[in-house]
Amino acid sequence: MIRGIHHWVFDMDGTLTLAVHDFAAIRRALEIPPQDDILDHLAALPAQQAAVKRAWLLEHERALAQSAQAAPGACELVKALHDSGYTLGILTRNARELALITLEVLGIHTYFAEQDILGRDEAPPKPRPDGLLHLAQGWNIAPSQLLMVGDYLNDVQCARMAGAYNVLVNVSENLWPEWTDLHLADCHALHQYWQERAY
Ligand SMILES: [Mg+2]
Repeated sequence: MIRGIHHWVFDMDGTLTLAVHDFAAIRRALEIPPQDDILDHLAALPAQQAAVKRAWLLEHERALAQSAQAAPGACELVKALHDSGYTLGILTRNARELALITLEVLGIHTYFAEQDILGRDEAPPKPRPDGLLHLAQGWNIAPSQLLMVGDYLNDVQCARMAGAYNVLVNVSENLWPEWTDLHLADCHALHQYWQERAY
């Protein structure tokens, strides 16, 4: 499935970066029940309350972005794909402005066109497939010509629902095999897998 796919979309946090978000602590700070999706919960609040909590979340995540560290093999993979002429995008539930900071901290921002970096305000959040479909449309390709790389259920579900392929990385055990096309240890392993099969 990797052969012939020249458009790759990456999740950011926990996929290109080492996972640092403490979602339980975020839920506690924002008084969000443990079982609730954070972004869905905020979207359902009255506007003023939502604005205050969104602002807190943005500042919390800004600090994380500024100290972002690359996940194993992530920067090398992105560079190799770019150098091979691939088109790359980002689809994150983080804010777009923080995605830009994170990519710059990692030193890989030049490998992505700015309009191909979608955050939670540019598309309905994953697992909804809208962001991937938007990228595919902008690139003038079918969703089946697209590969999504991520580290969580949201990512593989989003890809599957969009009709794209997915690769799950950075989790030792795949808890969602029914949603996953390919599970590899990390971006370093994905880089090797791609090199062996891409041509
Ligand atoms: Mg992630």
